[in-house]
Amino acid sequence: MSLDEPSRTEPRARRRGDREPPGQPGHKVVDEVELLEELLAQVVEETQPKAAPWFADMRGRGAIVTGAATGIGRAIAIELARHGASIAFNYLGRNGGISDEAQRTGNELRQLEVTVFSQECDIRDPEAVKVFVSAAQEALGRVDILVNNAGIARDRALWRISDGEWRDVVETNLTGTFNMIREVAPLFRAQQDGKIVNISSIHGLRSEFGLANYAASKAGIMGLTRSAAVELGPSNVNVNAIAPGYIRTTRLTDSVPAEILDRARERSVLGRLGDPQDVANVVLFLCSEQARHITGAVIPVDGGHLL
Ligand code: NDP
Repeated sequence: MSLDEPSRTEPRARRRGDREPPGQPGHKVVDEVELLEELLAQVVEETQPKAAPWFADMRGRGAIVTGAATGIGRAIAIELARHGASIAFNYLGRNGGISDEAQRTGNELRQLEVTVFSQECDIRDPEAVKVFVSAAQEALGRVDILVNNAGIARDRALWRISDGEWRDVVETNLTGTFNMIREVAPLFRAQQDGKIVNISSIHGLRSEFGLANYAASKAGIMGLTRSAAVELGPSNVNVNAIAPGYIRTTRLTDSVPAEILDRARERSVLGRLGDPQDVANVVLFLCSEQARHITGAVIPVDGGHLL
């Protein structure tokens, strides 16, 4: 290392405020560090999604969000609650008790001063769904919105998918969504009002290697969405689906290899992965009166990944 080169152990001392005058050793390095810091700050600023800036009045509305303890569901529940909706959400129990995440999400929602109800419920089980929806209705006083968010992935080459992995994914993602819609349909028909949003995936539209069970279940959700829209439309119920691209949740970053995420980032024409808030903003819109004339639609929230 020459004497003019900065030591690798001391670059922080050469930050803003420690600028050396031009012509002095080190001024070039200072400029580069500053430029890099400014660029990074700009990137962070530009990649942070903003909560919906307009006000959708959800006061007095009751919303069920499945799987809202974590990730995208949590962001959806918080966004609806921020606009005044009461929230009921379910979780899968851990050793017979409530998970830490479900507890934390429940506390965050209560801080928004809305009614919050949460209960263990495996959406694959129609009887459990019946009990949950009825308890949610009692706790919130009414149910106007259903967001089917709960879902799982068990990625593997098609010829290696076990019976159990096929069943778990299809029964959670597709049958679970059906169980929930079937249960709220009589309520929504009776009140001649309701909003249903199903969280599908871009992989229901265009698959990749290893996603046979997941892609089939998410494509199934799109067909189910259209059928439900046709059957419930005459009762003034809107049914839509969102097809998120890669969304930065713990589940995604823990389970998907970094190379695949890098490829997804490059493929998105906006050059980034999505954030749970990006999906939550669209759910809020679809549940608002501003979207009253949209039904049976599948809306990609993917940064242009599918283009
Ligand atoms: P998470 O794993 O964080 O959320 C999934 C939630 O579903 C969990 O809270 C889980 O509950 C719940 N859940 C799973 N199985 C059941 C069941 N049988 N009954 C009830 N609840 C269940 O993942 P994400 O937030 O990333 O995903 C949310 C949804 O978005 C999923 O449908 C996923 O397929 C979809 N999606 C996600 C994308 C992404 O990139 N992240 C992209 C496209 C779609 P618990 O924690 O209690 O186990």
